[in-house]
Amino acid sequence: MKSLADPVSVLKGVGPKSAVALNKLGINTVGNLLLEYPFRYDDFAVRRLSDITDQEKVTLKGTVASEAVLTRFGRKKSRLNFRLLVEHDVIMVTFFNQPYLAQKVETGKEMAIYGKWDGRHQRLAGMKILFNAGANDIAGVYRSSKDVQQATVKKLVKQAYELYGDVLTEIIPEETRRKFKLLPRKTMIHDMHFPENQQAASLARRSAVFDEFFCFQVKMQFIKKIQHKKHGIKISYDNDQVKMFIATLPFELTAAQKKVVNEICSDLHHTVHMNRLLQGDVGSGKTVVAAIALYAAVTAGFQAALMVPTEILAQQHAEKLDHLFAKFNVNVALLTGSTASRVKIRRELLKHLKDGQIDIVVGTHALIQNDVVFKNLGLVITDEQHRFGVNQRQKFKKKGIMPDVLAMTATPIPRTLAITMYGEMDVSTITELPKGRLPIETVWLREKQLGEAIIFLKKQLSFGAQAYVISPLIEESEMMDLKNAEEIFAKLKKQLEPEYHVGLLHGRMKGSEKNEVMAAFKNKKFDILVSTTVIEVGVDIPNATMMLILDADRFGLAQLHQLRGRVGRGKKQSYCFLIADPKNEYGVARMKVMSETNDGFIIAQKDLELRGQGDILGNKQSGVPDFKVGDPVTDLRILQAAQQEAAQIINDPEFTHKSTNKGLINYLRHELDKGISFD
Ligand code: ADP
Ligand code: MG
Repeated sequence: MKSLADPVSVLKGVGPKSAVALNKLGINTVGNLLLEYPFRYDDFAVRRLSDITDQEKVTLKGTVASEAVLTRFGRKKSRLNFRLLVEHDVIMVTFFNQPYLAQKVETGKEMAIYGKWDGRHQRLAGMKILFNAGANDIAGVYRSSKDVQQATVKKLVKQAYELYGDVLTEIIPEETRRKFKLLPRKTMIHDMHFPENQQAASLARRSAVFDEFFCFQVKMQFIKKIQHKKHGIKISYDNDQVKMFIATLPFELTAAQKKVVNEICSDLHHTVHMNRLLQGDVGSGKTVVAAIALYAAVTAGFQAALMVPTEILAQQHAEKLDHLFAKFNVNVALLTGSTASRVKIRRELLKHLKDGQIDIVVGTHALIQNDVVFKNLGLVITDEQHRFGVNQRQKFKKKGIMPDVLAMTATPIPRTLAITMYGEMDVSTITELPKGRLPIETVWLREKQLGEAIIFLKKQLSFGAQAYVISPLIEESEMMDLKNAEEIFAKLKKQLEPEYHVGLLHGRMKGSEKNEVMAAFKNKKFDILVSTTVIEVGVDIPNATMMLILDADRFGLAQLHQLRGRVGRGKKQSYCFLIADPKNEYGVARMKVMSETNDGFIIAQKDLELRGQGDILGNKQSGVPDFKVGDPVTDLRILQAAQQEAAQIINDPEFTHKSTNKGLINYLRHELDKGISFD
């Protein structure tokens, strides 16, 4: 029987090699492929001269008004010029390097040409001649890669739709579809891929956005509902001990930290199930808040866990906690992917998690593997929350009976959006940075000024400061990233050694290697650390006060803010150099925003304003979960409608018994872990 879960290799033309390439794009099944919508459409509909703008890509139709003139430069280059009478105006059409088109152009002939409009010179830089204009006005453009080309994706989607169109069944209940005027699922998917015109595409998109948000919300709400059925635990922590611990900290908590600690402790103490989001800008001091909560749970006799997205961060947090708890009787363990490779150590560790000898465990997603069993897990904290998916969090929580949950994130998102994204989570926000922090000085330099930055850097190094040098981000190519980082590393070594030492960190290293490099940097064995963006989240080395980001305009604002947040963590003045020759005005605007402010909330706001205006870095930057079609910011209204609707359906006591919910229940069964009960 045909199923949307069939692997893409069932399609004609998909061999083992292209299957791998498709998987790399996140396309494993036929179902995935059908939901791989075009990210934009090329519009070939004929336009009027009066309503097109400079630099717009348009199709113009007219009569050829002059003989075509072909000019060749050298062997490969050529230019083809002719005049075209469009409405009552004569424009110039130019095609570069397509000499064979000369024969197709005849004076007096009617033609439709797609190209880029140069309004100042009344010239169309032709891209192609449309021989059957009007047949299909718009065409989807898909994500592709070196190994899977645009045309291939297009063909496969077509084939998938033809073969599997009839197994596309409804997920959203009919009543909801009627209420929000949504297209039937099959029509929606058809029109997303093969719309007849712009209007059909927008209509389909409206349904697809609702569909995506609704499905996400249904998952979230359903998980929440099962949790609410169970009782939370009461963590009766020892107030005096917690106070004593806070008194041993090397600094006084900021007022904002005190406030959120109180909110968290109050949740712990009550039987209600804590489900709280802790927001705070980079460097606002979330880790110590986490440490206090973890310690509180331990004084109540519970185990607690801290999950982080990277191995470097796990190592760092484990060390920090070890240090903070040095005078207290707390047993901290570290469990990551590298632990897993040391079988004996891991076995020992698992044993002590099970018998309760370990109080606190810090780890990566290695923590959610099936054989990790706790004696009495009371509190789960996730750091850099936005890096984790719903299912991951869910799995983790199931390790305890009903542990309290605290999710920390540095990605500032507007409160309304946070509430919608994280469902009914309570939100705590750290609104200030620790006292005495000097704002990071950020300077944007052109590439030719790189030398000036290096001179400054050397001077600071001579005073004992340390620096990060971030190599350019190459989208979708870890190999290129690596090559770049290695080249920069070699150059800096040549320039600075033996006076200063240079280290290298990149994503291809094994976890243990990365940790060694970080430890060496922390212990000042290196003065400079050349790194790819693996350094991005959470790393805390206060003595590093300089950062140099190469090709900074390749990064999105949120990412630049996270990167820059690696400096400015102590009392000393920190500097950040953005080296960039932006290709367009949005790049320039991004560099300006970064030079003007250090405030994550303002940056997030600017990010949203600049997005959708040609910034292809788009969605990924905002830190909210990755949606494929919907944009939680510009489509906030739809997101809210979908949330309300989902809540109403899921919280209906008859939810599982209503036949109208069959499609939805099937969907949940597929999406959520097998262990979840539907009664
Ligand atoms: P983030 O919120 O980005 O995770 P961290 O928890 O890593 O920030 O804290 C950043 C730095 O600030 C750390 O070096 C930490 O020790 C320090 N810090 C945290 N709270 C305070 C405080 N109240 N006063 C002074 N320094 C603090
Ligand atoms: Mg942090």
